[in-house]
Amino acid sequence: QDMYRLKARTRGLPAPVVDGMDRLRLETDLHDAASRNELVVHYQPQVDAGTGRTVAVEALVRWQHPTLGMVPPGVFIPIAEDSGAIGEIGAHVLAVACSTVAGWHVGGTPLELAVNVSASQLHTAGFSDFVRLVLKQTGLAAHRLVLEVTESQVVADTDALGELTALRALGVGISVDDFGTGYSSLSQLRRLPATEVKIDQSFTAELPGSASFVAGIVALAHSLDLRVVAEGVEQPEQLRALIDAGCDRAQGYLLGRPAPAADVRSRTDAAETE
Ligand code: C2E
Ligand code: CA
Ligand code: CA
Ligand code: CA
Repeated sequence: QDMYRLKARTRGLPAPVVDGMDRLRLETDLHDAASRNELVVHYQPQVDAGTGRTVAVEALVRWQHPTLGMVPPGVFIPIAEDSGAIGEIGAHVLAVACSTVAGWHVGGTPLELAVNVSASQLHTAGFSDFVRLVLKQTGLAAHRLVLEVTESQVVADTDALGELTALRALGVGISVDDFGTGYSSLSQLRRLPATEVKIDQSFTAELPGSASFVAGIVALAHSLDLRVVAEGVEQPEQLRALIDAGCDRAQGYLLGRPAPAADVRSRTDAAETE
């Protein structure tokens, strides 16, 4: 019953609609979620717009709550950010995703891995050292890892910018997630040590109506030598418009839903050759 309440209240709505009691309950339970093995990482493919081949996967965490069922990250990540649990959760997701994806390749090319990072993780002392350690222990080459950050969270934040610069120096890619939704400006984007922008799904949803806007973002990003990924691609017409706009990569339900590691792995070379 709790599960339905939570689902009904959070479906399509922003996280703050979870009421005080639910929130307290989730906050308390979240502290043990990682150690109780309740966190599951799903993977969603990103395809090359030119070849249609899968070139990367994004790690998306899910929480299998013992009584509430599956709690979506849009609900529990903001709570974890406020309570401080995000440090442990984020570290867990990064370690699991890197070790899982290290052996994945398609057409002989190792897959890249995108992992979401909260600004508060960037404030944890030694975060870039932790990332370097995980890469070393899992054998994932630094250039295969892309960390996704939200522009509005980091752009005015000197500490976060310093940590991103240290990560970039390791060879890790930096993606600006939900691009176009914040107070983006060219000068702000240039301050970030970014390698990629991710066009927010709200713009993808409006395609082909928003085609000239998207083409403008692509031109801007390319002028800064940034790769462009579009997320939330659900319709073939949207993919067509993105390819026409010069977008480099696409991600969305049309190309593959987030799925457990075993399902995604079965579509890689690693599974074929064993
Ligand atoms: P995001 O990083 O913007 O991730 C994209 C969201 O859109 C995901 O929701 C994904 O499942 C969903 N999505 C993918 N393709 C489509 C599509 O074609 N149509 C539509 N309508 N949606 C699509 P999800 O998995 O519920 O994650 C929500 C948010 O939670 C993420 O947004 C991200 O901000 C956060 N999140 C997820 N995993 C992590 C994590 O490990 N760490 C942190 N810090 N945040 C995470
Ligand atoms: Ca993301
Ligand atoms: Ca996004
Ligand atoms: Ca988002």
